Amino acid sequence: MKLLITGGCGFIGSNFIHHIMEKHPEYQIINLDKLTYAGNPSNLKNIEENVNYSFIKGDICDPDIVKDVMQDVDQVIHFAAESHVDRSIEDGSVFVRTNVLGTNTLLDCALKSEVKKFIHVSTDEVYGSIKTGSFREEDNLEPSSPYSASKAGSDLLAMSYHTTYGLPVSITRCTNNFGPYQYPEKLIPLFITNLMEDEKVPVYGTGLNVRDWIHVEDHCSGIDFVRKNGNIGEIYNIGGGSELTNLEITNRILEILGKDESMIRYVEDRKGHDFRYSLDCTKLKKMGWKPEYDFETALSNTVKWYIDNRWWWEPLKR
Ligand code: NAD
Repeated sequence: MKLLITGGCGFIGSNFIHHIMEKHPEYQIINLDKLTYAGNPSNLKNIEENVNYSFIKGDICDPDIVKDVMQDVDQVIHFAAESHVDRSIEDGSVFVRTNVLGTNTLLDCALKSEVKKFIHVSTDEVYGSIKTGSFREEDNLEPSSPYSASKAGSDLLAMSYHTTYGLPVSITRCTNNFGPYQYPEKLIPLFITNLMEDEKVPVYGTGLNVRDWIHVEDHCSGIDFVRKNGNIGEIYNIGGGSELTNLEITNRILEILGKDESMIRYVEDRKGHDFRYSLDCTKLKKMGWKPEYDFETALSNTVKWYIDNRWWWEPLKR
C-alpha cells in the first residue's frame, strides 16, 4: 500500500503519519508539503530515516510536482491547507489558492493516476453555526469565514469529481483538534504556552462560543477508519463529543497550570464569529468507530506535552 499524504508536516498530518507508521509499518508513505509557516519537519524527526517514508517539498497547486508524486499511489489522504481562521480574515487569497485550487490540482492528478481512494480531510466549520442540535452529513453548508468558505468549496469540488468522473472520493469533517505538534497560534497551544511564559490569554468577546473538542489521535483513527471502511462518494462527521465554551476550556487550562482568572484578557470578538459548532456522528459510530480519549485526561496530557517539549514550540513563538 502506497499512501500520498499532503500537508504531512502540519499538526494533524504529522500525527496521522505517526499513526499509520505504528499501525501499518509495512505501508509506504510519501509526504508532500510546501513547508509554509505551519509545516514543521521536526514533527517527523524520529521517522526521517525510515525506508518506507519519503518527504517531498512541494506545492499542491503545482501540477507538475503533483503529477510526479501521484504516480503509483494507491490512496491519497489530503490534509494540506491554510487552516487558521484569523489569518483568513486578514487575507483570504492564499486560502482560496491552496484550499480550492490546490485541492483541484490534486483531484485532477488523482483521476489521471487512477488512485483507488481519495480522502479529503475537512472540517465542521463548513456547516456554519448551530444554536441547538447537531449537524448531519446531508445538511447544507453555510460557512462564515474565508477559511471555512474555502474548505466548503474544496468539499464541493471533491464530491463533484466523484459525481462527474467517478473518482473514489470520501470526505471527513471533524471538530476542533488538540494534541502534540499544534502550531501555537491555535487556542489550546497558544493558551498553554502563554501561561507557561506568564503571559495573559486572549479570550474573544464573552468567551461563551462553543466548540466540540477531539484529541488529534481520535481524529487520526477516524480518518483511518474511513480510509478502510468508508463508502466512496460519502461524507463522514468525526467528533469528540466534548462541547465546551471557550471560557470553560480556558478555565480548565488555567487550573491544570495552577493559574487563576486574572490571567484572562478579554479581546474584541472575532469578525463573523460562529457561536457554536456541533456534529452528529451517528453515521460513523454505527459503522463501529468511536473516540477513545477521555477529554480531561487528554487535555492534561497535552499540557504536559507542551511543558516537556519547549524545544518544539519556543522557536515558533519568537
Ligand atoms: P496545519 O496548518 O497545522 O498544517 C497544514 C499543513 O499543510 C502544513 O504542513 C503546511 O506546510 C501544508 N501546506 C499548506 N499549504 C500548502 C500547499 N500549498 N502545498 C503543500 N502543502 C501545504 O493544519 P492542521 O490543523 O493540521 O489541519 C490539517 C487539515 O485538517 C486541514 O485541511 C484542516 O482544514 C483540517 N481540519 C483541521 C482541524 C483542526 O482542528 N486543526 C479540524 C478539522 C479539520
